[in-house]
Amino acid sequence: MEGPSLVLLVEQLKPFVKKKILDAQGVAPVNLDGIASGSLKAAKSWGKHLLLVFDKTIVRIHFLMFGSYRINAKIERDPKLTLKFAEGTVNFYSCAVKEISKEEFKAYDWTIDLMAKEWDEKIVVKRLRAQPDAMICDLLMDQEIFPGLGNIIKNEVMFLRRLQPEVRLKELSNKEQLALVRESRAYCFQFYEWKKIDQLKRNWKIFRKRKCPECRAALSIRKTGFGQRVSFFCTECQLGTSLPLPEIKVKPSKPRQWIRTPRKPAHEERV
Ligand SMILES: [Zn+2]
Repeated sequence: MEGPSLVLLVEQLKPFVKKKILDAQGVAPVNLDGIASGSLKAAKSWGKHLLLVFDKTIVRIHFLMFGSYRINAKIERDPKLTLKFAEGTVNFYSCAVKEISKEEFKAYDWTIDLMAKEWDEKIVVKRLRAQPDAMICDLLMDQEIFPGLGNIIKNEVMFLRRLQPEVRLKELSNKEQLALVRESRAYCFQFYEWKKIDQLKRNWKIFRKRKCPECRAALSIRKTGFGQRVSFFCTECQLGTSLPLPEIKVKPSKPRQWIRTPRKPAHEERV
């Protein structure tokens, strides 16, 4: 689930906010009794993180590759976490559920969250430009630059900007770098609008397609960058790299990178 889908989830959880929890169940390693003894004070999202604030604890949920949720419904799988309210039941499946401290909660940097009103393009551009040798496909998926951006948005934004995935940032003009940042933000809101009316998939231009929507050439479909996530792109319409491609090795593992607490804003950490 990408950032805009999390924003929709938070909207769907509104009827349960400030409501008493009758029961909490599941196999997630969290204090279920503590959760069940109070109410859901708030539900927020940051990037791909769902943050549930309870009276006694704060829980972070990441939906990983195949996570899902159901409200007043079930699927044939054991829920990681079930929250029962008088108003209904919320089930979370195949996700990572973790309790975080108040300090970790306060450390979330909303100025880079693609869906946040506090989003600040200057801070995002600065973080982006700190990695001039990185490839566009890796930069777009970097959750410390574009939290909430996933593989669908990556592919659509690369096509909208007419960039192939392995173009290095330093090959783009400053103007084009800024346009990439703005396009990412704009597409997230477009994604949200389409998803809300169940029209997202029919509006994909390139993700999971076989032919270029512009020139009808067969698309290149392969894993790209250090992240080795699948990219869909047209070698005719999208600008390729003029530099020799670096040898692609699987990036040295950074275990559980996706649940790492976001750092302070770039201007505080990078000198
Ligand atoms: Zn094309």
